[in-house]
Amino acid sequence: MRKLLIAANWKMYKTPTEAQSFLHTFLPLVKDQTKGEIVVCAPSVDLATALHSVKGSHVEIGAQNMHFAEEGAYTGEISAAMLVALGVKHVILGHSERRQYFAETDETVNQKLVTALKHHLVPIVCIGEHEAQRESGMTEEVLCRQISRALHGIDAAKLKPMVIAYEPIWAIGTGKTATPVIAAEAHLIVRSEVARLVGRPVADALRILYGGSVKPENAEALLSQPEIDGALIGGASLDPHSLAAIVKAGAVS
Ligand code: PEP
Repeated sequence: MRKLLIAANWKMYKTPTEAQSFLHTFLPLVKDQTKGEIVVCAPSVDLATALHSVKGSHVEIGAQNMHFAEEGAYTGEISAAMLVALGVKHVILGHSERRQYFAETDETVNQKLVTALKHHLVPIVCIGEHEAQRESGMTEEVLCRQISRALHGIDAAKLKPMVIAYEPIWAIGTGKTATPVIAAEAHLIVRSEVARLVGRPVADALRILYGGSVKPENAEALLSQPEIDGALIGGASLDPHSLAAIVKAGAVS
């Protein structure tokens, strides 16, 4: 059985004080929701405050990015060792916004994945097709290419902690959600490609999250698909009541 994972991606929203106030409201709302894991991926300047706020709860705090190098002259960047030293256990890698605005590629995602796994972080690797690629029937080809490049050269045994988030770019922040059937079909493609590359045991244990305009109103239908092991949520994760409603939808699905 794969454990449900509900991950929030706050993007570049919330100061440390706002993060603290969110968690103050959110934690009591989900205190009985222990069926799955809940991870809030906060901006790096919020991490220390957020980690302090969740102490003693089952909610975890993740990062939204890290550099692939161990350390070095990379002004403004954050290393895996820095995240681990803070107490962070999860990190989002290769989000489509990082690919679009910060020139991340499948190759840099691969380098980051190697480093994250080396530091025993749980990487949440984001993949997904553009609308034009879906419309021209290229979804499978795009997803398989992104996966094979991200996993390139990594031993199957090391990949166990990895999570993949399928986030169709046309659904991120647009209000357009993939139907549960479309999302589940894409997840099957992802799982088959991982099985082909690194074997069935890793693929069967792999958690694949859906991301793209997940809201309290559509969460249950998406999360009740057996192929969907959780969600990565942007906009709807900024409000504690809305994120808690999604967590609850996951518990009944
Ligand atoms: C995301 O940023 O990963 C995301 C899925 O955003 P939204 O839920 O706002 O579409």
